[in-house]
Amino acid sequence: MSYGGSYGGGGYGGGYGGGGGGGGWGGGFEDRMSNLGGGLRSIDWSSQKLERFEKNFYVEDKRVSGLSDREVEDFRRSKEIKVQGRNVPRPVTAFDEAGFPEYILSSIRAQGFAAPTPIQCQAWPMALSGRDVVAIAQTGSGKTISFALPAMLHINAQPLLAPGDGPIALVLAPTRELAVQIQQECTKFGASSRIRNTAIYGGAPKGPQIRDLQRGVEVVIATPGRLIDMLETQKTNLRRVTYLVMDEADRMLDMGFEPQIRKIVSQIRPDRQTLMFSATWPKDVQKLANDFLQDMIQVNIGSMELTANHNIQQIVEVCSDFEKRAKLIKHLDQISSENAKVLIFVGTKRVADDITKYLRQDGWPALAIHGDKEQRERDWVLGEFKAGRSPILIATDVASRGLGTFSVCCQPAARYFAHMRTLSS
Ligand code: ADP
Ligand code: MG
Repeated sequence: MSYGGSYGGGGYGGGYGGGGGGGGWGGGFEDRMSNLGGGLRSIDWSSQKLERFEKNFYVEDKRVSGLSDREVEDFRRSKEIKVQGRNVPRPVTAFDEAGFPEYILSSIRAQGFAAPTPIQCQAWPMALSGRDVVAIAQTGSGKTISFALPAMLHINAQPLLAPGDGPIALVLAPTRELAVQIQQECTKFGASSRIRNTAIYGGAPKGPQIRDLQRGVEVVIATPGRLIDMLETQKTNLRRVTYLVMDEADRMLDMGFEPQIRKIVSQIRPDRQTLMFSATWPKDVQKLANDFLQDMIQVNIGSMELTANHNIQQIVEVCSDFEKRAKLIKHLDQISSENAKVLIFVGTKRVADDITKYLRQDGWPALAIHGDKEQRERDWVLGEFKAGRSPILIATDVASRGLGTFSVCCQPAARYFAHMRTLSS
């Protein structure tokens, strides 16, 4: 048996939305608090004469063309790559199959990477073909260079920036930390071709950011609020943007950036190439993709259900069966001092009842919820939990599936997720 078992516990949406607090919110939180964008003119794109631009740079490598459909399928299956959409290009299997120029290949070699990650294998051909792309893969899977390297090729194929021009590639990101991380990757891979970049985020002085913008930068990585500020005060413009990336789209929506994202996108020519990267694929992100992407193609890596919420600290403890209860109590002791709500997922109904009994005998305010309980009792238990009268809830993961309410009622609790596995399992 195992207590953890399912990532579903944290529940997508659990961790982000809650109150201010938490490190890492940086500029994003501040951005979210302000109501910017009122000063931006809406643009009637149909009346504008738009200069043609090149966005398809992809030539399939002979080694990729030489594979049979069956081999492509096997490769995708082995990497857990799933694709959707019209005419999705085949994945590459090695860095030198993507058609990157030597200056990019040498900077990849300098990193010492052995092989492209699954998302890179599939997303590079998709992005390099100029298509609108949705890419879903978990945190740490190498998404940044999945969009950043094609951005370099895109930029190098466009006319040089003229004085007063804004960026060619725009990357929207939810937080200052992330914007800075993306900037670092862009610098690594763009420096050799003199592509300039800047990160624009709240919670930092505007002066240096304005100077960068006015000097001219091909890549802007920005949190939505500060970017709108810069647009309203005409420190930059988005007239040259033809490559738009929304990174961590799920997180941006959770942080309430949707209105700002819509404002920003309305300032960008509609025939741009748009790419959306996300760790999860909830309904609101799907809607955003449908509104902003055209004839989109999509890649998902791995199981959609198992993507973990990166705002939740996850602790995995491997232990023997008989150590579990003591460890559980240790965690409860620690968490209860924070006045939090606690969800404990278990494998079976019997274990749910056993642990509930064990905890109650030990004085913990615990209740169980699982498939054997009547609906009325389940509602009551959930009500007690929500109201905080019984802040410990023990559930089978089967019960959790039908319980969208979890993500709502656990918001303050869901920043902490311990997962215990037995040695044998
Ligand atoms: P994500 O955006 O999916 O969370 P990142 O793009 O931040 O992931 O990448 C996570 C880490 O993996 C970074 O340190 C990055 O440099 C590294 N990385 C990227 N691509 C590869 C690769 N092909 N092989 C090994 N490491 C890689
Ligand atoms: Mg990322």
